[in-house]
Amino acid sequence: MDDCLFCKIIKGEIPSTKVYENDYVYAFMDIAPQAPFHAVFVPKMHIGSPAEINAENSIYVAKIFEAISEVAKSENLEKGFRVVANCGEDGGQTVGHLHFHLLARRYLQWPPG
Ligand code: 5GP
Ligand code: ZN
Repeated sequence: MDDCLFCKIIKGEIPSTKVYENDYVYAFMDIAPQAPFHAVFVPKMHIGSPAEINAENSIYVAKIFEAISEVAKSENLEKGFRVVANCGEDGGQTVGHLHFHLLARRYLQWPPG
């Protein structure tokens, strides 16, 4: 999608600090980290939000979770981490391209605010 921020990051039109990449997934450090380690995992296909996941595109979600598991190992996050997908206005989604936050290296309160 031409005017999508994360599509531009995937294409390299906007610079980012890459943490992982394969044919399905791109992951990069969040520009406004909410934890000492905060990466964002996005599908390389434009999917608007978790509400748009379906049988045709869910392979991207599976690939993202495989990637999260790999990064958690390579970054030594054995103490734990949190995966978050915000959806829509009430869910606090600010970028309209499906993404999963990987937050780690501090104790994360539950439930969130
Ligand atoms: P959301 O609020 O939609 O769940 O998450 C969007 C995330 O994208 C936010 O955590 C925000 O800090 C991050 N973000 C927004 N613009 C950029 C950018 O240009 N570069 C990077 N690396 N992260 C961004
Ligand atoms: Zn996009």
